[in-house]
Amino acid sequence: MSECRSVTREIRITGLVQGVGFRPFVYRMALEHGIRGFVKNTNSCVLIRASASPGELDRFTESLRRQAPRVAVIETLQWKDIPPTTFDDFSIASSDDLSEEVTRVSPDIAVCDECLADMKNQPGRIDYPFLNCTHCGPRFTIVKGLPYDRSRTTMDVFPMCSSCRKEYEDITDRRFHAQPVACRECGPVFTLVLPGKTNTRFQEILGTACRIIDGGGILTIKGMGGFHLACNALDQEAVLRLRNMKIREAKPFAVMFRDLSALRQYVDVTAKEVEELTSWRRPIVIMKTRKELAGAVSHGFRTTGAMLPYMPLHYLLFEKLKTPVIVLTSGNLADEPILTANDEARRIMGPLTDGVLDYNREIHNRTDDSVVMVVREMTRIIRRSRGYVPNPIETKWNTEGIFAAGAELVNCFAVGKGRSAIMSQHIGDLKNAPTYDFYRESVERFCNLFRVKPALAACDMHPDYLSTGYARELGVPVISVQHHHAHLASVMAEHGLTGPCLGICFDGTGYGTDGHIWGGEFLLGELTGFERKARFRYVPVPGGDAATREPWRMALSYLLDTFGEEVRELPISWISEIPSQRFDLIIQTWQGRVNAPLSCSAGRLFDAVSALLGICRYSGFHAEAPMRLENMAGKAEGPAYSWHGEEEIDFRMMFREMTRDVVEGVPVSRIASRFHYTLIRMTADVTEKILSGTGPLPVLLSGGSFQNRLLLEGVEMELEAKGIGVYSNLHVPVNDGGIALGQMVIAAARREAGML
Ligand code: ZN
Ligand code: ZN
Ligand code: FE
Repeated sequence: MSECRSVTREIRITGLVQGVGFRPFVYRMALEHGIRGFVKNTNSCVLIRASASPGELDRFTESLRRQAPRVAVIETLQWKDIPPTTFDDFSIASSDDLSEEVTRVSPDIAVCDECLADMKNQPGRIDYPFLNCTHCGPRFTIVKGLPYDRSRTTMDVFPMCSSCRKEYEDITDRRFHAQPVACRECGPVFTLVLPGKTNTRFQEILGTACRIIDGGGILTIKGMGGFHLACNALDQEAVLRLRNMKIREAKPFAVMFRDLSALRQYVDVTAKEVEELTSWRRPIVIMKTRKELAGAVSHGFRTTGAMLPYMPLHYLLFEKLKTPVIVLTSGNLADEPILTANDEARRIMGPLTDGVLDYNREIHNRTDDSVVMVVREMTRIIRRSRGYVPNPIETKWNTEGIFAAGAELVNCFAVGKGRSAIMSQHIGDLKNAPTYDFYRESVERFCNLFRVKPALAACDMHPDYLSTGYARELGVPVISVQHHHAHLASVMAEHGLTGPCLGICFDGTGYGTDGHIWGGEFLLGELTGFERKARFRYVPVPGGDAATREPWRMALSYLLDTFGEEVRELPISWISEIPSQRFDLIIQTWQGRVNAPLSCSAGRLFDAVSALLGICRYSGFHAEAPMRLENMAGKAEGPAYSWHGEEEIDFRMMFREMTRDVVEGVPVSRIASRFHYTLIRMTADVTEKILSGTGPLPVLLSGGSFQNRLLLEGVEMELEAKGIGVYSNLHVPVNDGGIALGQMVIAAARREAGML
């Protein structure tokens, strides 16, 4: 190509394009298309200056869009012609500002198709379960320090062999600068520990592991971010044994299918769900069950939480397994964090399961499998961990140096860097001592890793939350944030909303500014403050915390509120079964408000209805009663029950009507369905009334109750039909796992406004 036909273009690419092998990719594309110039990272984008013929530049640009590394997300790609420049070659230029680069680390990435192909035919990597490349493999879970470099990962104890090094150093190779690059010669190996013997011969291990699972056994398997427990998901006895083994475990189990076609036999899957299932993040997707697996897997729910293989080992196992689907649940007991250390797994799970399959590379950062669901063609994240963390959430506010402590039960925390919030992986319930240790350790690790020195902390207003206590111990100024204000702010942060909004927060529990338990809220607010426009009517929670495990207490509370002491005469079997002395005690508690805090929480309302209908009177896991109520309803369908009130929403009429339906033997599913419809109608009506006073505002939905698909879908559609702009959480959980993001932007906004 003659020089005179050469033009120069400047190309700017934004999105998730840094720290994901994008520049070497651009370099390879440039070589392929005979482009001269350079590529470099800047603070705002990847910048390319490229000289070639206009046609070749077009093809080059097109290949950047089409063939980008799969972890990369190109949000914008803009180019303009600039005065022609002559370059000798194409190069990767050093960045303008290294501070950004040294704090970027990618989430873990499912094994890619090219590596799967290598696993079939590349000498040194045939059936080798730790192969990876620039496009795939472990990242966050193995990182100990930054900049991201093999010596600062748990691969540091595996010196590269000469052939791996050759690939690592060859910029045209797919494994160029792939830090965890490994082969059979130099990389980690699996060990199978059985009673009295250990084995490291991989082919034998694989065979034995599959025989254990197909034979009805339970296998402990080391995954990417922690250990899993696995068994055949079609074997009821094996699944029951697993359930009994995991103390207090009553939740539906997640499963892994061999492939999409196996999955389609058991699950009704939409196109959007397929997209999630096959994405490099490989989350667990909660979908509608088509054909039941062993009954003990879903435990009465009409949904299946499923994922597809993401580690090379998973593929190798399914090549040999007879069953097309296995339970793959986190390897922990009760509420403890998922196990990550080999010695612990061998000691704790060894005696309980039929074998422990681990490997000799350390997991430095624990991650659970992430969980998502698709509602109205939009993916909503429920648990944000492997595959998502530590991708930052970009905000419009200066978050530098802010530590957001999160909530308590479903804790995630966040650290602020620049204008982004780096959310931690799902931590769990801090009241569990080992989980709280995990929290403290992870906060320290995040601060070190991302070079954040907290200068300001944000925490929940609840005085007893361990996360609040932790924030106060840091010795920096602390901003305490009302729980539902944080929920509202998390939606504002995600969608970049800056002005006043109406936040609808339907939630389990949150400490209110009046000292009561909130959770049925209509808040008019922005980041710097809020005003409570409406709430559910307060009812006592007899027994306080005990009521979350015993939803029947809430049913009784609502019935007492509705019927007074006549509640004793109601011809409802479970009520007449309560011994009269116990009844007296509860009425006393209820009336005297001793150990009966007031609550207006939507979660407690769902508990009450679930128990009243006899669906769930005792809860085996967090939010079981609301989840079973939704499951029973199947759909939200009118007519609505009665409710009234504007600032105080009163459901006593609804309870009167529902009780009559129960007594008259109306099918429980019908009552549940009408209850859902009532809440949707009520929400739409109250919202409309509030907006008629304020003028149009964006309406935000947040809080754990919006994990209820019927409620979320119904409210969104009702409001949209009225022409109201509705926003909810997409990238952080709608549950308390998203609280830290809200806390962070509230702290940032208050700092900017000088409101410390
Ligand atoms: Zn790969
Ligand atoms: Zn090697
Ligand atoms: Fe909450």
